[in-house]
Amino acid sequence: MQPRLIPAGDESAESKDSRFVLDYPDAELVFGLVYAVGTDYRPVLAYLEDQIRLGGYAADSLHVSDWFAETAERLSLDIRLLDSNEYERIASRIDAGNKIRTRTKQADIFALIASSKIFSTREMDESDNPVAHKRRAHILVSLKRPEEVESLRKIYGPGFYLIGIFADEAQRVDFLTNRKGLTHEQAESLIERDQKEKELEFGQRTRDTFQMADLFVGLAGHEYEKGIQRFLKLVFGDPFMTPTKDEHSMFLAYAASLRSGDLSRQVGAALACTEGDVISLGCNDVPAPGGGLYSSDGEADHRDHVRGKDSNDARKEQIIDDIVRVFRKLLPDSKEEEILKAARPLLRESLVSDVTEFGRSLHAEMDALMAAGRIGVSFRDAVLYTTTFPCHTCTRHIIAAGVKRVVYIEPYPKSLASELHEDAIRILSSDSKRDHRIPFEPFLGIGPRRFFDLFSLKLSSGYTIERKAKGEMVNWDFRRDAKPRVPMAPTSYLEREQLIQKTLISIYSAPEETQSNVTTTPSEERSGVLGTPGEDSQAGRKLARVEDRRTGDSSTTGERSGSA
Ligand SMILES: [Zn+2]
Repeated sequence: MQPRLIPAGDESAESKDSRFVLDYPDAELVFGLVYAVGTDYRPVLAYLEDQIRLGGYAADSLHVSDWFAETAERLSLDIRLLDSNEYERIASRIDAGNKIRTRTKQADIFALIASSKIFSTREMDESDNPVAHKRRAHILVSLKRPEEVESLRKIYGPGFYLIGIFADEAQRVDFLTNRKGLTHEQAESLIERDQKEKELEFGQRTRDTFQMADLFVGLAGHEYEKGIQRFLKLVFGDPFMTPTKDEHSMFLAYAASLRSGDLSRQVGAALACTEGDVISLGCNDVPAPGGGLYSSDGEADHRDHVRGKDSNDARKEQIIDDIVRVFRKLLPDSKEEEILKAARPLLRESLVSDVTEFGRSLHAEMDALMAAGRIGVSFRDAVLYTTTFPCHTCTRHIIAAGVKRVVYIEPYPKSLASELHEDAIRILSSDSKRDHRIPFEPFLGIGPRRFFDLFSLKLSSGYTIERKAKGEMVNWDFRRDAKPRVPMAPTSYLEREQLIQKTLISIYSAPEETQSNVTTTPSEERSGVLGTPGEDSQAGRKLARVEDRRTGDSSTTGERSGSA
């Protein structure tokens, strides 16, 4: 593909100057929605589209299920999309998606099709190269597999955002039965299928996909309106948006999880008082004598990855061995040896696999409680933020500790917390009974993933933000100044390198300007910008000037192409 010398949204640049500018004020955006079956996503989508348009962008929604029929036809696949009633409509579409994924052996097939659909909307330039849309957002409705999200993040990089819409099970059953006319059994069976089709390699994994979101919004009480508004302001560069207490504490919980060297998963927890002050942090790892956990800078490190095995897994194998040993006594016939051999893999998939008690790691929630205890700070009435839903063992301790509220992101299906402690904890957020039980709530807000990109003035991978200009506070207006904070570049890095080469040639051939006040810095003396010694320091200065223009542009975004 022939690179163009002009960034998207600035065709006029070519005529006046062939310099390539690393700035994309009109960059395209791609949003994906993920929600469980029975979630009424429509008001959320409508609100998202409206808000995107307010930012001067066109909003183009693409429905994955619209592609089932044509995809099946191309694959000569027999699918039936039923519309006689709502249950059959939903069930036949889950089937169709599964069949297409299975046939293509691509868990991310619908992400690839989405990308091809977006490609088909592109105009071609005179050299037959696809052209980026100006100020357009594509919204994919909806995603069902983590692989789809992974692929979209690889294709669209920082331009892709996943939005998780949360409705609890009672709300979803209510929607399916009272609004869509399903029976209770039909609603329950669809919800079960949708979350995780365990037995199907290419089935739906909505639950696993949901937790990857960059933004979590709730359906109840129109919470999503506030959530989407804040999120889009951040996406479009509002310099004054700061995290909520929940978002900040959850970010710290994630930061704490990065310490963990556990072989299975990294979990983090943060205990905060209701005013938002964080009391302590914790992660899941092996406890060390003297208090706390082993770390990589301690004197000795006896964690599982150093020992080379997971003690819980080892114990599960011992349990399976023991069950097999018992049955061997009951089945002395040598033929039965075959049966026992076959029983092993089945036992590994049985409830034995849910055993968690024999790991050496302290769980993140317990580590956070212990940390507060060690320094002597009370956690009565504290809020516990945990990256993963608490297991039943931690739940017992959380209840006894006097924690007032628990907030989590990732579900943990092995946890029996709600079954064993239903008297003490409350899982359903729509449960109108505000009783004495401790609420375990799903996290709502900006997820920890893009915290630096969206909230940091300086450390964002997009442009830097100044809140004051010439001593005055910047006057930022959503409708006037919306400009993607971390724009998706329409060029690849190889194309950008080539464009920069051309830019440098253009810079070198420009008439000399006054440069007497510019001093050479060591970085400018690095060789090889164009491979000609002696030109390097000048090249460095000029390139720096191109970068300066980028920074300058970011604070003056008054102009708008108005493609929406
Ligand atoms: Zn636990």
